[in-house]
Amino acid sequence: MQFEIIAKCHTTKARVSRMTLAHGVTMLPTFMPVATQAAIKGLTPQQVELLGVTLILNNTYHLNLRPGLKVLNEAGGAHKFQGWHRNLLTDSGGFQLVSLSKFTTITEEGALFASPFTGEPTMLTPEESISIQHAIGADIIMQLDDVVSSLTTGPRVGEAMERSVRWLDRCIRQHEQSGKKDTQNLFAIVQGGLDPALRDRCLDEMIARRDGVAGYAIGGLSGGEEKDTFWRIIKQCADKLPEERPRYSMGIGFAEDLLVCVALGVDMADCVFPTRTARFGVALTHQGPLNLKLSKHAQDFGPIDEACPCPTCSEKTSRAMLHHIVTHETVAAHALTIHNIVFQAQVMGRARSAIIAGTFPDYLRSFFSNYFGDTGYPEWCVNALRSVGVDLLENNPANVVPGKGAKWEYAKSP
Ligand SMILES: [Zn+2]
Repeated sequence: MQFEIIAKCHTTKARVSRMTLAHGVTMLPTFMPVATQAAIKGLTPQQVELLGVTLILNNTYHLNLRPGLKVLNEAGGAHKFQGWHRNLLTDSGGFQLVSLSKFTTITEEGALFASPFTGEPTMLTPEESISIQHAIGADIIMQLDDVVSSLTTGPRVGEAMERSVRWLDRCIRQHEQSGKKDTQNLFAIVQGGLDPALRDRCLDEMIARRDGVAGYAIGGLSGGEEKDTFWRIIKQCADKLPEERPRYSMGIGFAEDLLVCVALGVDMADCVFPTRTARFGVALTHQGPLNLKLSKHAQDFGPIDEACPCPTCSEKTSRAMLHHIVTHETVAAHALTIHNIVFQAQVMGRARSAIIAGTFPDYLRSFFSNYFGDTGYPEWCVNALRSVGVDLLENNPANVVPGKGAKWEYAKSP
């Protein structure tokens, strides 16, 4: 991996960098759409490439169960299997083990779980997770970590963090012995829950292993914790992680979360939210989410967003048409998924342009004004951005609302 910082914001911690991997260049900060089963639901890989997306995420847990390693090996890896020519990141499978399997037991050796297809006990060790990701052939691979929900408290949080550090050592060893280091890049995952002391210890341990890793992820967040805690943990991690490595915040997809994380120094993020909410009939726009199921769109003949360059909007597919077929006809899911992926790319692309132009604080103020001007700014966003020198309320009498903000609830509910 080549990682080159090309611009820094003069006020916040945001930066623009060029990450060169085996399947081309990805400019950071970027949002990675999630292609769980080696496919972004509703789109072909060719469509995704044509939208300009250069990095997507596949789920190791799912690909390992189906189609399985034998098929992936015979296909020559996941790129060839799915016909995807750009960069690919795989997670380690740990998160799905905990969130999807009721019977997962964590031991020092690895995670023991019941196969959802055969019911047979199956062990996923750190070494196996890395070997599976080698077979998949992703450009960026993730360490197996011991994942606990961000709502877990007590000694389990510290135990999981310490084990994640030990498992990182095993992942590094497996990766170094594989001969894949030139084409595949291992990322560590910082754990430690919502406890700043545990996070700090994990950061120290994982930064000490920097020779073995190409980048760092911030894990264990986005699990329903208070947003005021969320941004403080992101800031703590981004502040301490090495400048010359990419920083990936896992499971982040709302536009306001992305922009706050970028301002705090995050380079990459992923989430199923924009593609999932599309299938429920919600289009993301710079004025906030738009629920096309509502009858008010029945005779609205304009596109989702006049200024959007996506094929759905530029071909003038009307809101009325989308309302007519949304959640009934699969073409509505295609049309909205395309639009939402382009929206996410625009939010991040405009951030990159503004950082390079030296106008990122202005971009933040105008984005939040357009997006939240009518419902009130989430207080946590105001506080998080103040911590890096941007006052969203400067010359702006907008209301500030506690919690996640009304737009969040609107986008979340189908
Ligand atoms: Zn569009």
